[in-house]
Amino acid sequence: VAAVTAPSVEIVAIGNELLLGETVDTNSAWIAARLAAEGIRVVRVTLAADDVAAICDVVTEALRRTGTVICTGGLGPTPDDLTRHAVARVYGRRLAIDESWIDVLRDRYRRRGVEMPAINRVQGEHPEGATLLPNERGTAPGIVVADHDLGWAALLPGVPHELRGLMEQGVLPLLRARLQPAHRIASRVLRTAGLTEAALAERIADISADTGTVSLAFLPHITGVDLRLTCLSVDAAADPTAALAARLRERLGANVYAEGNGDMADVVGAMLRERGLSLALAESCTGGLLAKRMTDASGASDFLQTGFVTYANAAKRDLLGVEPETLALHGAVSEQCAREMAAGARVAGRADVAIAITGIAGPDGGTADKPVGTVWIAIALDGTTHARRFVFPGDRSEIRDRSAQAALDLLRRLLLRSG
Ligand code: ATP
Ligand code: MG
Repeated sequence: VAAVTAPSVEIVAIGNELLLGETVDTNSAWIAARLAAEGIRVVRVTLAADDVAAICDVVTEALRRTGTVICTGGLGPTPDDLTRHAVARVYGRRLAIDESWIDVLRDRYRRRGVEMPAINRVQGEHPEGATLLPNERGTAPGIVVADHDLGWAALLPGVPHELRGLMEQGVLPLLRARLQPAHRIASRVLRTAGLTEAALAERIADISADTGTVSLAFLPHITGVDLRLTCLSVDAAADPTAALAARLRERLGANVYAEGNGDMADVVGAMLRERGLSLALAESCTGGLLAKRMTDASGASDFLQTGFVTYANAAKRDLLGVEPETLALHGAVSEQCAREMAAGARVAGRADVAIAITGIAGPDGGTADKPVGTVWIAIALDGTTHARRFVFPGDRSEIRDRSAQAALDLLRRLLLRSG
C-alpha cells in the first residue's frame, strides 16, 4: 500500500495560562481531531506565552516548516492579548483597523442596552490585507493572513466554543481549498451500555478479528463502552465503516444505544416523547443527577413532570409514601424501598412512568451485605414495578454517574420491549 501523505498543518496555542498549567490546551486537541477527519495532518503543536517576541519566533518557525499555521488565543481586548501584533510583525505588515467590525460590535452592545467599551476597538485590528472571519459568539473576529512566500496563518480566539464556530464556518472551507486533501478519514462511534469492555470484546470477537480496512477501538467510559470505527484514507464518497457498523449493531442489539456522541438521556427522552409518556424521578444517592441529565437538553418539559430528591428516610416516607415498616425492616437501600419510591413518585408526580434510585455511593455507609456501590433501581411502568440491584465499582462520583446511566438504560430497555 502506497503511503498517503496528507497535507500538514501546525498549531500554535497562545496564553500564559496554558504554560502555567491553569488551562489545559483542549483547543489544539479539538482542532487536530477535526482536521484529521478532513484528511489534514497536524504535525506539531506549540504553546507560546503572551509575549510578542515569543509568538513571533514560534509562528515564524511553524510557517517555515509547513506554510500553514492555526493560532488560538490572545485575540481579546486586553493589553495581554498580543497575537495580532506579533503576527503583523511576522508578516512585516502594519496593523489596520476594520471599522465595519467595530460597527457590528457597537450594534450588539446597543441591542443589550450598553455602550461598547472603548477597549473593544482593538478587536477590529488586524495585519493589513488580512481577511476577517465574523465571530457570532464573541467579540474577536478570526483573522486569516496569507503571503505567497511566508505562507498562510489563521488566528482564532482562545474561548473554545468561539474557536469551534470559526473553524467550522470560516477556516475549514479555506483550508480545504488551500490544501485539497485527497483522502479523508471516515470514522463513526457506536455507544454501548450494559456490557463491560471484556464482555463486549467477547461478544464481537469474530467480527473484530476481521474488520478489513477499518480499525476498531474500544473506548471505555463510566457510562459505557464506545466502539470507534476508523478508516484512514477513504476516497471521496466511500464509507467502509457503514457495513461494519451494521454488523456490530446486529450482533449487539439493544446494547447499542446511540451513534456518534448521542447521550442516553436524549435517547430515553426521545422514546418518552414519541410514546407520549410522562416521567417522574425519585432520587436518593444521585441527589438530582438524573434530573440534571434529563434536563441538559432543552425540551424536557414535553415529558418530565418532576423529580424528587428524597435523601432522608422521612422524605421517602412523606413525599413518596414509602412504608415506615419497609424502611425499618429492609432499610432505605433495598428492593422494597426502591419499588415503593418508584410507585410513589409515579402517583405523586402524576406521571406515566417513574424511575427510583437508592444506593450507597460511599465512601462511608457500606456494610458486609450492602457494600459501597450497592444500588437498587426501580422503574414503575405499565402497572408494575421492575427492580434491579447493582454493585458498582469506583468512587462516589463514579457510582453516582453509573447509577444514573444504569437507570436510564433500564428504562430504555423496558420501553424497547414494551414496543
Ligand atoms: P477573547 O477574544 O474572547 O478575549 P482570547 O482570544 O483573548 O479570547 P484568551 O484570552 O487567550 O483568548 O482565552 C480566553 C479563554 O479561553 C480563557 O478562559 C482560556 O482559559 C480559554 N482558552 C484559551 N486558550 C485555550 C486553549 N488552547 N484550550 C482551551 N481553552 C483555552
Ligand atoms: Mg487573552
